[in-house]
Amino acid sequence: LAERLQGTLTKIRGKGKVSETDVKEMMREVRLALLEADVNFKVVKQFIASVKEKALGQEVMKSLTPGQQVIKVVNEELTALMGGEQSKIAVAPKSPTVVMMVGLQGAGKTTTTAKLANHLRKKHNRQPMLVAADIYRPAAIKQLETLGKQLNMPVFSLGDQVSPVEIAKQAIEKAKEDHHDYVLIDTAGRLHIDETLMDELKQVKEIAKPDEILLVVDAMTGQDAVNVAESFNEQLDVTGVVLTKLDGDTRGGAAISVKAVTNTPIKFAGMGEKIDQLEPFHPDRMASRILGMGDVLSLIEKAQTNVDEEKARELEKKMRTMDFTFDDFLEQLDQVRNMGPLDELLNMMPGMNKKGMKDLKVDDKQIGKVEAIVRSMTKKEKQDPSIMNASRRRRIAKGSGTTIQDVNRLLKQFEDMKKMMKQMTGMTSGKGKKRGKG
Ligand code: GDP
Ligand code: MG
Repeated sequence: LAERLQGTLTKIRGKGKVSETDVKEMMREVRLALLEADVNFKVVKQFIASVKEKALGQEVMKSLTPGQQVIKVVNEELTALMGGEQSKIAVAPKSPTVVMMVGLQGAGKTTTTAKLANHLRKKHNRQPMLVAADIYRPAAIKQLETLGKQLNMPVFSLGDQVSPVEIAKQAIEKAKEDHHDYVLIDTAGRLHIDETLMDELKQVKEIAKPDEILLVVDAMTGQDAVNVAESFNEQLDVTGVVLTKLDGDTRGGAAISVKAVTNTPIKFAGMGEKIDQLEPFHPDRMASRILGMGDVLSLIEKAQTNVDEEKARELEKKMRTMDFTFDDFLEQLDQVRNMGPLDELLNMMPGMNKKGMKDLKVDDKQIGKVEAIVRSMTKKEKQDPSIMNASRRRRIAKGSGTTIQDVNRLLKQFEDMKKMMKQMTGMTSGKGKKRGKG
């Protein structure tokens, strides 16, 4: 899908002005992207209308092509729709700050309660107390206690025979006595919203007077998340949302819908099952993720300022004529280097932050090694690697602080690369081997 968007982008590249047809075409892709990411269709409709208006009204900035311009507006508007700025967790003027966690069963309340406690201590130097107020789910208390042990943090519980309201009341008193500055109340959820649950949560709210009610929503539930958020918000006046399981396959369209429908900021994102996998939610990053394009814009900007187009063209010509030498190789390496750390660059590329690819790291050390080897070659060797005999290889390895194996590998890779170029040039000029039909 990101490819489709890119395709449209390429088509209108080079035009001086954004025309209405351009915008329409782009918006069609954006609309599909959003729907595919499970954004509520009403929200999408509204969003597209507002972007169209903005994009058409804009003068084309000098540094951006019209396509990028539209994408930029889309990105900005999406970010705004999700709240713009990153929103922080509440702090009560007088300790302790009481936070109540609510949401459906399985959404991730208990896990998030522990994650949040960990976050508060690590990043904000706080001393939270956890409260086990889910007396219905078997082993829910135990689950929180285990997490508390893992964190070496106190968990308040009165077993499952005392009402959640009473638990909350006593817990807050205890927290005051023990000088805890945050009280995190883990409540029960149901598979579906029902009145009994809501009534009970309302009672807990009345007693606990929470400074923050965090609604925990499973991002994987897509459209359903919106309905859930809507009812919880109606009943309890939620002050913030935690979107969990964003580490899964989901594109996170729920993030947009939930914010748009409840008008409540998303404060945190759950990125895995582990206790440290909770992150403050960043609307701008989520916008890019939803559009599936990484930080395409910043990548384009970086590349434009740093790579000399003239040089790039020259290089391409050389590749085609087979004059490509290790000198050219070095120059190319420099250009890439100028753009910044390689893994950072790769991460900005669309598709690179997809599942399975996100751990991909380019080893800057490896590149450094390659560079050292090439720099240890003599001028002659760089121009014509075919003269490279055993003693030359040994000398280069020594001079570059690498091994002969490293040198051999690079020489082989270079040869392979040239071969590949040859094939490519052959194909484009029509002289390449024709593929048989069978
Ligand atoms: P609760 O019923 O709302 O208290 O939900 P739990 O905290 O018990 O979590 C339900 C399941 O979701 C557990 O297996 C958690 O490990 C898992 N879970 C919670 N948050 C995340 C998350 O951000 N990512 C992933 N992958 N799993 C999560
Ligand atoms: Mg639970």
